[in-house]
Amino acid sequence: MSKSHKIIVSKFGGSSVQDSQTIQNTVRIVAGRAEGSSRGPVVVLSAMRGITDLLLQAATTAEQGNNEAEKLLVDIQNRHQATVAELMPQASPERDELQREMEELFFQLKEILHGVSLLHECTKRTRDYIVSFGERLNCLQVSAYMRSQGLAAEMVDAREMIRTSEEHDGATVLFQETYARITKRLQEIDGIAVVPGFIGSTADGVTTTLGRNGSDYTASLLGAALEAEAIEIWTDVDGVLSADPRVVDHATLLPQVSFREAMELSYFGADVIHPYTMIPAMEAGIPIWIKNTRNPDNAGTKISDVPSDASQVITGLASIGGVALINIEGGGMVGIPGFAGRVFKALAEHNINIIMITQASSEHSICIVIREDQVATALSALNKELARELATHQIQDFDVIDDLEIVAVIGENMRGTPGISGQLFSTLGDKGINVLAIAQGSSEMNVSFVIHRGEREVVLRSLHDRFFLKKD
Ligand code: ADP
Ligand code: ASP
Ligand code: MG
Repeated sequence: MSKSHKIIVSKFGGSSVQDSQTIQNTVRIVAGRAEGSSRGPVVVLSAMRGITDLLLQAATTAEQGNNEAEKLLVDIQNRHQATVAELMPQASPERDELQREMEELFFQLKEILHGVSLLHECTKRTRDYIVSFGERLNCLQVSAYMRSQGLAAEMVDAREMIRTSEEHDGATVLFQETYARITKRLQEIDGIAVVPGFIGSTADGVTTTLGRNGSDYTASLLGAALEAEAIEIWTDVDGVLSADPRVVDHATLLPQVSFREAMELSYFGADVIHPYTMIPAMEAGIPIWIKNTRNPDNAGTKISDVPSDASQVITGLASIGGVALINIEGGGMVGIPGFAGRVFKALAEHNINIIMITQASSEHSICIVIREDQVATALSALNKELARELATHQIQDFDVIDDLEIVAVIGENMRGTPGISGQLFSTLGDKGINVLAIAQGSSEMNVSFVIHRGEREVVLRSLHDRFFLKKD
């Protein structure tokens, strides 16, 4: 697979490989991509829908010493076996070989879960290893099925290519090494390379994962390394929509959005694409297409340098639930250089991601928004870092408000358009929504604000009606 032959990297998410029927549909799409092109495509697959959750659940139950884990393993095994039986109903040496390979993986998985239940301990490293079976099992069965359909397909383990740091459950990708490995390894493949998404490995060969939804990121890394013509993310919706369709049922398809808009939308909870996916593609200047496996003829959304429709001030809305706000207040921080830096450093050292920050211009308070399940860790980190200021009452105790949600309003066309915030907050005011904190990126392409849990549906729907139905 040389760089001179432009190839397409096509990633299929869990819902596009959830059973034999969806796999057959996915393979038809891949066959279409293979037709008439001298090389490729490169195919990236997620685990079958729900399998990652089952594997994580099995790890947790095994850790509790509970033999429920075995039942979960049987469920996982049954789903794969039923799928293979439907995909390849006739006995054949290829099917025997596939069944042997899959049995070997199930045997390993059973042994690991048994070990976890004996030790009553499942480290993050072991959990990553356990969860990696989802993508690997799926790639084995789908690549074998492709071969049974006359396609030259071969599974290539991502762990040979995606080199990461030693962190688990969201490792950092080491780009240079990863790109060199991808080009070298895929050069050896003539047909369709079927690559498990989501997983990588450290220099010592330890299995790591890229974080939930990380298969999108794998596809983008492969695309950038191979200088692909396009990166396709195949999913169960027509493309990037103006809001989460599960909340706003009349959300509309966005035919094009910029890399930055897609990054902001996904950062603020639009699951349709993992936020890191945009980085390799943007650097390499490769467009990403979001497409629907259930409606392949629809053009989908093109993510590139070009922002969304200029007649629309706002591109989309997104939201994150389960967040909490920590307010740090006190005269002691006024004018002290480096105070905010200390807060951020203390939280970063504990792997706490600050989703949103606001600081009053009086410098009397800093307000940070983080995930609710990280509040206890954050407070202990802050208590330690700011012990002196607390003891001398330069700052007051931290004020925590949980049960909150963030809503973000995103669009490159907002830049330089006056009055958006006014319309935004008057719409919220009309609905009686109490806003606890507001942040606006200096790039003016994002206004995000914090509201109480349970209010986001009404907020998203009323903003959507305000900005998308009624054109200005
Ligand atoms: P996959 O299994 O293909 O990776 P995901 O479930 O991760 O699929 O992502 C697709 C889902 O993202 C959609 O079914 C949709 O419910 C959700 N979603 C949330 N926000 C948006 C949005 N703005 N546009 C499109 N889909 C969205
Ligand atoms: N299977 C993994 C998950 O469910 C990765 C992915 O699907 O992108 O998060
Ligand atoms: Mg996904």
